[in-house]
Amino acid sequence: MSAALTRDLRRAAGDAAVLDGDLRHYGHDATEAHGIAGVPAAVVLPSSTAEVAAVLRACDGLDVPVVPRGGGTGLAGGAVPLGGEVVLGLERMVAVRSMAPEHWRTEVEAGLTTGHVHRLARESGLLFPPDPGAAEQSQIGGNVATNAGGPHAFKYGVTGRWVTGLEAVLPSGETVTFGGPVRKDVAGYDLRSLLIGSEGTLAVITAVWLSLTPMPEARLPVAAAFASADAGCDAIEAIVASGLVPAILEYLDAGTLTAAGASFPAVLPPDAGLLVIAEADGSPAEAARVREELLEVLSDGALSTHAPQSRSDVEALWRWRDGVSTAVAAHRGGKMGEDIVVPFDRLREAIAATVEIGARHGLDACSWGHAGDGNLHATMMLRRDDPDGLARAAAAAEDLFAAAVELGGSVSGEHGLGWVKRGQLARQWTEAALDLHEGVKRLFDPKGLLNPQKKLARPS
Ligand SMILES: Cc1cc2nc3c(=O)[nH]c(=O)nc-3n(C[C@H](O)[C@H](O)[C@H](O)COP(=O)(O)OP(=O)(O)OC[C@H]3O[C@@H](n4cnc5c(N)ncnc54)[C@H](O)[C@@H]3O)c2cc1C
Repeated sequence: MSAALTRDLRRAAGDAAVLDGDLRHYGHDATEAHGIAGVPAAVVLPSSTAEVAAVLRACDGLDVPVVPRGGGTGLAGGAVPLGGEVVLGLERMVAVRSMAPEHWRTEVEAGLTTGHVHRLARESGLLFPPDPGAAEQSQIGGNVATNAGGPHAFKYGVTGRWVTGLEAVLPSGETVTFGGPVRKDVAGYDLRSLLIGSEGTLAVITAVWLSLTPMPEARLPVAAAFASADAGCDAIEAIVASGLVPAILEYLDAGTLTAAGASFPAVLPPDAGLLVIAEADGSPAEAARVREELLEVLSDGALSTHAPQSRSDVEALWRWRDGVSTAVAAHRGGKMGEDIVVPFDRLREAIAATVEIGARHGLDACSWGHAGDGNLHATMMLRRDDPDGLARAAAAAEDLFAAAVELGGSVSGEHGLGWVKRGQLARQWTEAALDLHEGVKRLFDPKGLLNPQKKLARPS
């Protein structure tokens, strides 16, 4: 780190905010297993919006690039300083600026973990529905910056649906707010939505206004195993066609069940080709009614069903579901997953395409994910320390992206483009649309100093 950079960062945020010593933790995110890691020029952890603004002004003054960082759980390499940037971590910005349970809303700083936001809402009998998997590490600012989803997105929508306003600092150091504690706001272009999902390339989000909703009193899951992916997808489509609105509508394919099925907390038929998990929620009476109807629809054609009701059995099912990604990785020693999304009615084709693409590249492939949203975690299983397998998985990923677009979908449903999928937008947008994407970046960040090389529309 140059002497001028150290001096200016210390002036901006105080001596204690500029880290000394081993900075490796800030050099990677959840893509580390794929060899994606960098070395930060410096790590600075401001404690207030004014300090974030001062840090960005200092970096702008020295033309030093900056990578915003939340909890580092991203699956697209977005928070990784691959060009030796300054890492600006939000972890010290954890204030709850306001909590108004009677108005179903809160304003929190960006560094609060997702799990903390969940608990804050729950203590008041409320729910903050977005539930991406690494909630104890990910931060609300990171969730907003990636517009994170999760299983409950089927009924409740992704993170952006719950953000009514945000405070952010532009690369120049100017602080802006879009929206606020309001439920509706159509004045001006929707710049709040533009920053949601912008992956730290347009501004640093410092605080968010979130809307909350009353906590459902009961949640009852129903799991059903089917002989084939087609039979399972028929059942998934039948649920939606019947007008039922489960809170969660997930699937796991045959390869996933081979890798993770041994610890399923009930009997799983050995020849199961697809497992569907749905959740009924609401008042106890409503959840019980929806559970019965889900059971009725899913039982038609299922090999077996499992519909636990006791708290411990329900928790056992979700614990198993939460461990699926780890179990798939453990099956061979590693994995590479992509979160492609397709129209709901093309899910069965995407499930088949994932397995076929894997085979074409000499890899066992499987998928699971958010069936109701058509969002697959399409995964190539790898052996540990297998550079050749990793290279073939990267080639398979290109085919997966092509297949998603061919099916009318998108290369990312919830993880974003980051570094891993930079340039992939060119597959699915027209030239004019790509120009607009690049123009927006230039408008917010004319010097290109904020998270450079991430979320690029075109291959660089
Ligand atoms: C086990 C596991 C399960 C997961 N499950 C899901 C899931 O179900 N659904 C889902 O959508 N994702 C999931 N993820 C991915 C990840 O948790 C989400 O993308 C999450 O929103 C990232 O938050 P973070 O705070 O860790 O962000 P980081 O990884 O730190 O950063 C992600 C991106 O956001 C930017 N960023 C972070 N904070 C800010 C800020 N305050 N201002 C501006 N930019 C910022 C970074 O520059 C980067 O580009 C999972 C990850 C893991 C490891």
